Amino acid sequence: MKVFKFGGASVKDADSVKNMTSIIEANISDQLVVIVSAMGKMTNAFEAVLQKLIDEEDHTEALQYIKDFHFGIISDLGLSGNQQLHQEINTDFETIDNELARFSSSMGYDFIYDQTVSFGEIFSSRIVAAYLGTRQIKTTWLDARKMVKTDNIHRQALVDWGATQNIIRSQVSQHTDSSVVLTQGFIGSNAKFNTTTLGREGSDFSAAIFATSLNAESVTIWKDVPGVLNADPKKFPDTVLFDQLPYKEAAEMTYYGASVIHPKTIKPLAQKGIPLYVKSFENPHANGTLINECVIPNLAPAIIHKGKQTVISFKISDFSFINEQHIHLIFEHINRNHLTINLMQNSAISFTICIDDNPIKREQLRMALKDDFLIYYNEGLEMITIKNYNQATIDSLMWGKQIIIEQRSRNNFQMVYKF
Ligand code: ASP
Ligand code: MG
Repeated sequence: MKVFKFGGASVKDADSVKNMTSIIEANISDQLVVIVSAMGKMTNAFEAVLQKLIDEEDHTEALQYIKDFHFGIISDLGLSGNQQLHQEINTDFETIDNELARFSSSMGYDFIYDQTVSFGEIFSSRIVAAYLGTRQIKTTWLDARKMVKTDNIHRQALVDWGATQNIIRSQVSQHTDSSVVLTQGFIGSNAKFNTTTLGREGSDFSAAIFATSLNAESVTIWKDVPGVLNADPKKFPDTVLFDQLPYKEAAEMTYYGASVIHPKTIKPLAQKGIPLYVKSFENPHANGTLINECVIPNLAPAIIHKGKQTVISFKISDFSFINEQHIHLIFEHINRNHLTINLMQNSAISFTICIDDNPIKREQLRMALKDDFLIYYNEGLEMITIKNYNQATIDSLMWGKQIIIEQRSRNNFQMVYKF
């Protein structure tokens, strides 16, 4: 059995849905479990609806945009006459309306987010399933909210592996002999059956969850890039495609911010030795990148760029030195706010962290620690990590930048800078 994951760009319009269908058709002799993300930029569009709600502005138009987008694709795919599809999607929109109407600030943004934004994946999978039907591909549509069980941390839910694996095995296996199983990435539910989500771009991780639960032969992530490149082609000229990468290298690249694969994807696959292919949906016959257990000497330097960074420095007000107790206290509050540190550095009188820009959490952290430390912060910075660096790459990337933090180990070079 193979798991295929198609992201937003591969289902962004009718033509891309048709292209995805051809890829499925070409692989129909394998047992296939297909995971889809929301179409195009629909997750962002849902976030825009919620922003209106938070700002107490009218969200009708923002929601109408989402409706028009999906019904536009339905019509372009020739599915306008599909009564069942229309009914399902209209019912989903009623659910969304009800969720938005019952929103109160005590409910929490993260909760309402999961109850509504998750429909991006539901719509996408319903439309794709209906279209596969018109192409005589027997498809079983399954609801990932009923299979991926998580805790209660909305928008960043942690998977309950035991429960999830049992459900996936019992729900999916029975259908893969006779049909393509189609389900959604990104979404799941907690013990109370409230919808949860796994974090932005989490559909790759969903593919890994399904693949490991089903002991799949491989996972393929179909993308709008030829595979894993050594740098973002939108930011750097002359990129190199990795033909093959060890799990460890790929996992570390995602940790440092390479957005080609969701960071949580590699670990479960590596633990089971399931190979991961990253391939171009525009050029499905090209090899792409194979990530597996291997040793590759002299890997090209990988340049990973991460924007929207905040550097926060904690200093002791009476000029005593930073000690372990201070660091312990800082970490306690970082953990309490579910913040992730991208880089850290300490000196005699200060401890510095770099995190993703998040003014709300930064403020919570500052309020919690302001009596113990003098706190300075700097937002809107950028970070570059070079894995397997060489001096020439460092020199060319540092040129002309105002460096705020610089750090190197044997394999990695990192810098945070103003631009
Ligand atoms: N649709 C979700 C997002 O855009 C999940 C995904 O694409 O993987 O973040
Ligand atoms: Mg996406």
